[in-house]
Amino acid sequence: MDLDYTPADDAFRAEIRAWLEANLPRALREKVLNHKRLTRDDIASWHKLLGQRGWSAPAWPVEWGGPGWTETQRHIWDAECGRIGAPMVLPFGVSMVAPVLMKYGNEAQKRRYLPRILSGEDWWCQGYSEPGSGSDLASLRTRAVREGDHYVVNGQKTWTTLGQHADMMFCLVRTDPAAKKQEGISFILIDMKTPGITVRPIITLDEDHEVNEVFFEDVKVPVENLVGEENRGWTYAKYLLGHERTGIARVGASNRELAFLKGVALKQKKHGKPLLEDPVFAARVAAVEIELMALEVTAERVIASTSNGRGPGPEASMLKIKGTEIQQALTELMVDAVGPLAAPFDPAFLEGEHAHAAGGDDDAAPLAAYYFNYRKTSIYGGSNEIQKNIISQMILGI
Ligand SMILES: Cc1cc2nc3c(=O)[nH]c(=O)nc-3n(C[C@H](O)[C@H](O)[C@H](O)COP(=O)(O)OP(=O)(O)OC[C@H]3O[C@@H](n4cnc5c(N)ncnc54)[C@H](O)[C@@H]3O)c2cc1C
Repeated sequence: MDLDYTPADDAFRAEIRAWLEANLPRALREKVLNHKRLTRDDIASWHKLLGQRGWSAPAWPVEWGGPGWTETQRHIWDAECGRIGAPMVLPFGVSMVAPVLMKYGNEAQKRRYLPRILSGEDWWCQGYSEPGSGSDLASLRTRAVREGDHYVVNGQKTWTTLGQHADMMFCLVRTDPAAKKQEGISFILIDMKTPGITVRPIITLDEDHEVNEVFFEDVKVPVENLVGEENRGWTYAKYLLGHERTGIARVGASNRELAFLKGVALKQKKHGKPLLEDPVFAARVAAVEIELMALEVTAERVIASTSNGRGPGPEASMLKIKGTEIQQALTELMVDAVGPLAAPFDPAFLEGEHAHAAGGDDDAAPLAAYYFNYRKTSIYGGSNEIQKNIISQMILGI
């Protein structure tokens, strides 16, 4: 079934488009459109602005301060934010830990954390992966031992995205080493200022500090920070991962990047003509554009079926694979289009300190770093190979 937009949906689109045009700060938009790096303040200030308008958590129910939008309205919101170049609201609080708290948290946890997540007051990070426990997450070894009214946590997490800014971490820990591996895990909330926590940067291929290692040495976590029941954390962790993969198709952002690519390829010349008119290059662009159109229709079909009350299920894996393949293909074409102009690496320009790039071409200069950064998309959120396993088991029944 396809998604039919009603006149009310069209009116909704017009309303949010007008609001975004009026309220998204120009400097922030320019950074996103031009592949510059966002600071903590960039991300936090946009979250706060959306929070004031009541739009920071599109999927939340009205009861907890969400806008109560339908699936279709949320899809329109994502598409419009992508189109205009709005920064992403970080998923860790709003779309990962919050749904877990709403379903499995106690009243005190909900009342304490949900309003702060909505307003952007607390910055959350995800403590799932460990060295040796990524795809095989249930093998995780970070240990939490109960001592009176607190747990003592020892171990290490890795790849913790933006953990250097975080106030809180939702964390999977092993509370029963004797049980079957999925049955000895608990889901706890850790204040990142607790003594014994060390956050160390991992510098990625693009020389950015986006991910971290986090070490725990005798870290005391109050028992009241346990979510749900002890040793039932795997159930909550899986519930959260279902939310992590929705929205990962990022159709709106890819449409924006496709338009950027075409702009760059019009500017570049091959044999005196715009590169975009070169039949071989044009065919490569067209191939990605067709894939993107197919993804958009597929995402809308998935939304149409979830609007009828069925959860997104394993279809989310298809959207993740296709969405990330397209994102990566676009970055490849951009780098191919500008060739050596992508080579100069100027971090001060990427971070917005210099108005112009050392290499002389402001559009092209960030593209190599952007290309390298986007290698991550087929790894995080469950690697694309793991998504293929899910499809083969859950959809194809192999
Ligand atoms: C930029 C970035 C940000 C991240 N942010 C976070 C974060 O904030 N918090 C967090 O907890 N984690 C985070 N991760 C970790 C991410 O979830 C893991 O990297 C991912 O799950 C893969 O695990 P791994 O790195 O241990 O690779 P491995 O599991 O060791 O996999 C290595 C390779 O083997 C393949 N493979 C493994 N098992 C199978 C199988 N059964 N069948 C077929 N192929 C298989 C994988 O696809 C991959 O290609 C992040 C990762 C990246 C790159």
